[in-house]
Amino acid sequence: MVGLEERMPTSKFLKVKCPDCENVQVIFDHPSTVVKCLVCGRTLAEPTGGKGIIKAEILEVFG
Ligand SMILES: [Zn+2]
Repeated sequence: MVGLEERMPTSKFLKVKCPDCENVQVIFDHPSTVVKCLVCGRTLAEPTGGKGIIKAEILEVFG
């Protein structure tokens, strides 16, 4: 048996653009911690226990 938390068939990586500084970075769409922009520190994604709340413009989806 594999636990549900280990199986995330819908998990993806997202290429997002920071709304404040336009930095582009790749983030996980099921973050376990708050994801911040590497340049300006703006919050880009917040964890919810499942799919994260994405607070940036999504440019591309991988996976
Ligand atoms: Zn930024």
